[in-house]
Amino acid sequence: MLTVRGPAAWDRRGSKGRAGSRPVTLLMTWHTKDIDDVYNNLRSSPEGLSPEESARRLAEHGPNELTEKKKRAPVMMFIDQFRDFMILVLIAAAIVSGFIGEVSDTVAIGVIIILNAVLGFVQEFRAEKAMDALRKMAAPVATVTRGGRTVNIPASELVPGDVAVLEAGNIVPADMRLTEAVHLRVDESALTGESMPAEKHTATLKNDNVPLGDRRNMAYKGTVVTYGRGTGVVTATGMQTEFGRIATMLQDEEGVKTPLQKKLDIFGKRLSVAILLICAIVFGTGILRGEPPLLMLLTAISLAVAAIPEALPAVVTITLAVGARKMARQNALIRKLPAVETLGSVTYICSDKTGTLTMNRMTVESVYVEGRLAGAGDLTTGSAEDGQTPPASPRSLLFTALSLNNDAQLDSKGNYIGDPTEIALVSFARKMGFDRRRLEEELPRVEEIPFDSERKCMTTFHEIPPSFLPLQGPAVGEAGRYRFISFTKGAVDVMLERAVSVMTPGGLQRIDRPSLIEANDGMASAGLRVLCVAMRMWVEMPSDISPETAEKDLVVLGLVGMMDPPRQEAKEAVALCRAAGIRPVMITGDHSLTARSIASRLDMFNTETDQAVTGGELAAMSGEEFLERVGTIRVYARVAPEQKLKIVKALQARGELVAMTGDGVNDAPALKRADIGIAMGITGTAVSKEAAHMILLDDNFATIVRAVKEGRKIYDNIRKFIKYLLTTNAGEVLTLFLAPFFGLPLPLLPIHILWINLMTDGLPAVALSVEPEEGDIMARPPRDPKEGIFAHGLGFQVLWIGLLMSAIAISLQAWLLASGTAHWQTMIFTLLCFLQLGNVMAIRSERESLFRQGVTSNRPLVLSVLFSVALQMMIIYVPFLNTVFRTQPLTVAELALVSGLSLIVFGAVEFDKFLRRLRDRRSQT
Ligand code: ATP
Repeated sequence: MLTVRGPAAWDRRGSKGRAGSRPVTLLMTWHTKDIDDVYNNLRSSPEGLSPEESARRLAEHGPNELTEKKKRAPVMMFIDQFRDFMILVLIAAAIVSGFIGEVSDTVAIGVIIILNAVLGFVQEFRAEKAMDALRKMAAPVATVTRGGRTVNIPASELVPGDVAVLEAGNIVPADMRLTEAVHLRVDESALTGESMPAEKHTATLKNDNVPLGDRRNMAYKGTVVTYGRGTGVVTATGMQTEFGRIATMLQDEEGVKTPLQKKLDIFGKRLSVAILLICAIVFGTGILRGEPPLLMLLTAISLAVAAIPEALPAVVTITLAVGARKMARQNALIRKLPAVETLGSVTYICSDKTGTLTMNRMTVESVYVEGRLAGAGDLTTGSAEDGQTPPASPRSLLFTALSLNNDAQLDSKGNYIGDPTEIALVSFARKMGFDRRRLEEELPRVEEIPFDSERKCMTTFHEIPPSFLPLQGPAVGEAGRYRFISFTKGAVDVMLERAVSVMTPGGLQRIDRPSLIEANDGMASAGLRVLCVAMRMWVEMPSDISPETAEKDLVVLGLVGMMDPPRQEAKEAVALCRAAGIRPVMITGDHSLTARSIASRLDMFNTETDQAVTGGELAAMSGEEFLERVGTIRVYARVAPEQKLKIVKALQARGELVAMTGDGVNDAPALKRADIGIAMGITGTAVSKEAAHMILLDDNFATIVRAVKEGRKIYDNIRKFIKYLLTTNAGEVLTLFLAPFFGLPLPLLPIHILWINLMTDGLPAVALSVEPEEGDIMARPPRDPKEGIFAHGLGFQVLWIGLLMSAIAISLQAWLLASGTAHWQTMIFTLLCFLQLGNVMAIRSERESLFRQGVTSNRPLVLSVLFSVALQMMIIYVPFLNTVFRTQPLTVAELALVSGLSLIVFGAVEFDKFLRRLRDRRSQT
């Protein structure tokens, strides 16, 4: 568990041990209790519960979760396998035929049905488990103080009495009485319907009977912290929370089907009707030919059971879910299964810059102070030469500001943790000899206006001792009068609008904007993130601490430029995107020059052909103009998070499929709207994660591209699997359907039909879902999301391969019968089996030949084919199985003939692929 802040030792005055034995009582009126009463009632303290006590309470109150819909027990899942109407009819027919015919037939069919059910069960169970694992990985985290230490724990482990920390972007993990609220605003629309965020405080309310929306000293589970920060004592968890009482709101993720699954459902239904019709004809023609009715019934039903691709939904889910699991191992956590499929069609990836395209490891490189630009390494704290002594020199004040206007925290090992921008600044100040702890003692922080990416700046207020002599000069008046100082830092353009003067070694001077802008542009063009740092002195604290009152009339201390190097792997991923017909776009809160410089280094931006726009320009653009230009814009700088939504919508209006990254609360609408909303796993807020389809566990752009590749592969494999299943079914159905029209008897017995189905639906098909990607997977354009599953000639292939299989089988049957071969049926049975296995090897790739691909490059498939051959051999040569399957041992010549013929389909599919390659090559030249 990660320790984020706080002293090490657990204070024994806490609730350890003694309080452990008594359960806490849970009241409903926490808002009327004083904070001390709340702690007493819940037997907690500001240091939180001890680990032992929290474990005990977890056992008592249960996990902090809303009770889910009851899960289907595995036994039920197994029984459900037999609920299929056709299976029931087959069982009935088998039993009836057992009574009047051979009992061994009934038993054999029964065994195959059970094996089928086991297969179906295993597939469904695996699919469910994979989905469960995905859900668990995306589970929310809560920050709590336990035993005096701040730690991150799974939100499900929160218990009443826990002291939990709230920050902007958090989803409140449990009901809590607030003990600290710094500009805390909470969006409670999920509970109250009120869309304006509620301003929170910690004061005790008088009235018991206050509606939920007015209980300003409480925060409720499921609501969203939109601004500020706070701390609270957990008063209720799980179903005891206000949210738990209206738990119907719990969304049912399980029911969500991907577009492909929906299409397959419809297709499956239509196909079933067609197959039933064919089976009826097979039955009819058999009766007309004088075959025993019960045998014909059994044959027709077996054929229906075999040909209806009932394994399809489960295998598609497994392929998607297992694929998603693999993606999670590669740091792309899928939250919504349809995303796996959509990834393959993505045409635009709009990515944040900081941390995604860059390393998010900032270091101060240059500083503009006292009218001069200096490298970070060349700076000193102020020398005798310029006649200033710290802390009165502008640079000393600048370093003081960098140290104090900063939320980075020191961990137990003495490293800073928090926002990398802030870490870079406080570390730089430390290097310059400005120790944060010492400064904080001298100038304690009394108020703050937190950073937000819309204002692009932050302010802290500090009390100053009378001896503090930061500056003298006409604009400030004599020192000693002032009791407070505020430091503000933020984006240069924003800050310059609010500044009136600049600090120089000689005192205050009127601001010289052009030279500051020039310094900024120089640093930004070199790819640096530049922040302007300013201060203001106060005689009294302003009565209203707001950006409007506190962030104006500022005195500029200097500019600081930080380098955040681009990720090497991002550059490679950008190149991969290009080849794959995907356009990468940078969206950043940073300055346009910084953004352009970094984008050029990553080869995302061509100064000749591509455009960069700023948020301001975007806001001024009309809808039509933006629609026209959106295709050429590669960099968006200084954008407010809300504008991301505008970008997504415009791209979608042009028919693009957009993946969009985001981390903040305000990014949520754009993430939801994007075809693939991607949240940051490390820096992202809970709200953004909740809204996203996918979470990047390593915040890395290259991971998105890897996920796209994986998505394309998964879709390819599903297509291959479908092709395989349908061609084999077509081969079987057409053979049985057409044979009577050539005056031939039934080529296969029911048990043969069922066996072929078991083998084809089984291992080889599942092995196809782990087929490695084809070589050109990232060299072809994105898949058109509108194209059906049968696009690129798949339907036609199914037909011709099926027809070819049946033609070979029927010709062989006719010839064998004419030549009086006794083993004809065993030969047809084996031939159809082997044809499928040859087929599965050949359709592994859409274009590439098997030999180029490498025969053994999909080991599970090779093994499953060998295993299937071995089983078939047993059926032919083991005497006991001969009786069960009604087969006879084949001679070597017969086996050789069957094996040779089974290569025809393999050869034909390979030839078809060869023609496709030829056509591709011709169209390229
Ligand atoms: P990107 O959008 O590229 O991922 P980002 O998410 O870091 O970047 P924001 O956090 O929205 O962008 O920051 C926008 C701007 O606000 C920055 O360019 C910088 O000028 C300013 N800024 C960022 N962090 C701080 C901070 N801790 N204090 C003050 N200003 C900041």
